[in-house]
Amino acid sequence: MVIPQNTTTDSATADIRYDGPVEVTSWAVAPVLAESTALDFLNTSLYSTGRQIDWLGSGAALVDWLQQVQLLSEQEALEVRRMARLEELDTVAAGARQLRDWFRSFVLRYHGQALTGDALHDLAPINDLLRADALHLQIHVRPPPSDVGSTVSPLHGVWKRREISSGALMYVLGEAVAHAIASLSFANIKYCQGRNCSLVFLDKTSRLSRRWCSMATCGNRAKQASHRKKQQKNPPHAS
Ligand SMILES: [Zn+2]
Repeated sequence: MVIPQNTTTDSATADIRYDGPVEVTSWAVAPVLAESTALDFLNTSLYSTGRQIDWLGSGAALVDWLQQVQLLSEQEALEVRRMARLEELDTVAAGARQLRDWFRSFVLRYHGQALTGDALHDLAPINDLLRADALHLQIHVRPPPSDVGSTVSPLHGVWKRREISSGALMYVLGEAVAHAIASLSFANIKYCQGRNCSLVFLDKTSRLSRRWCSMATCGNRAKQASHRKKQQKNPPHAS
């Protein structure tokens, strides 16, 4: 995996060229339906009606998506857009697409079964990426607990980066992917059964019965197709 180099911008010399989001597709936003940000990352590229749509087609689009899925706060996204050169962000987006390709092949290989320690042999690229990251712990006020009278401390530790430069975006993505690999039940990762749909998701239903990326799209289409089939088999009697 090629990780973009020399993408950190010196704030004093930054050439401010980015002044707004760039539309890369006619779709409004990338689908967020996978129950996992890392799997939503895979769903940023899909085939639809015979053409490929890529929501990470440019650096500006990458920053928009990172903000959309809250891997960057509004403030951090604003900072990156203000400080980074457009071509730096494009280089990072190329790295992000490469990371996505790698993660896609990993998920394709291991989904539908529980991961074992043997998977470590295939994880060198993500470990190599994250090895160069620099994080430090900060104590913050914890969001209020939902249960009244909770004995949980009002403070908690949060891992932070000194700055969110364009180069740090790869670590933000890498961290999301690494967390997914280390915590998701790969046995419950599924691909949508919709015709010509390539979206992936984590099935979190209690009966593990999720079949579609979304009921509003593929689920409905399948329902209509099955209804049509039934009607063809048993046509209503003419009156
Ligand atoms: Zn689908």
